Amino acid sequence: MLRDFLSIYRAHQEKTELLELLLDQEGIYIPGYYSVDYDASGSIVRRSAKKNAPPVIRKQTIPDISASFMKSAITTPEIEFSNMYLLEAMRGCPWSCRFCLAGQIYKPARTKDFTVLKAEIKEALSMTRRVGLIGPSLSDYPHAEEILMMEGVDFSITSLRANVKSAGIAALMKGHKSVSIAPEAGTERLRKAINKRITEKDILDTAGLILSGEIETCGFIS
Ligand code: SF4
Repeated sequence: MLRDFLSIYRAHQEKTELLELLLDQEGIYIPGYYSVDYDASGSIVRRSAKKNAPPVIRKQTIPDISASFMKSAITTPEIEFSNMYLLEAMRGCPWSCRFCLAGQIYKPARTKDFTVLKAEIKEALSMTRRVGLIGPSLSDYPHAEEILMMEGVDFSITSLRANVKSAGIAALMKGHKSVSIAPEAGTERLRKAINKRITEKDILDTAGLILSGEIETCGFIS
């Protein structure tokens, strides 16, 4: 979207003309082309489009994230993820937990091609050994184990979903002493309400499997 926007912007810098041309671009919301009516409680009752503004703005997504290299520009010890190169392995999540912003706004779930991700990791190694894999639910990345078995890389991952695959992934986190899994709620009833489809048995079995390896601490986050 940014590339298309910039080419229109560069060719038409007169503001009204530019905005009217942008009305034809999918995914762009220009508030001035809508009128909004509210009821006495302040809730929106109607939103009407003016001129040829689209009645509904459709969110734009990149269908293939392998074609877009989102990467760290610099690595430095002065930040929270000290000297870590961040790479995106997944965008969107196949689960739809009700409370989760990432699970909702980044739909649909897409995974980076295995060969592309491996090449990006090799490029990252020219800057640092520490590589952070980004993805909302990395245990759903189809090649997670193969990636984590790459030699010479100190991987870091976000919290894991409570399942057997996560325990396998944790076992590959060489040199790491702790791993977090995310039950999100303390009771089955609440987990059902938030659509977190894991049971108490999943949580305890996964923690048990994680702690049977070299990991000393299994954290629970919510
Ligand atoms: S599994 Fe995790 S990332 Fe995915 S929707 Fe649920 S909370 Fe969000």
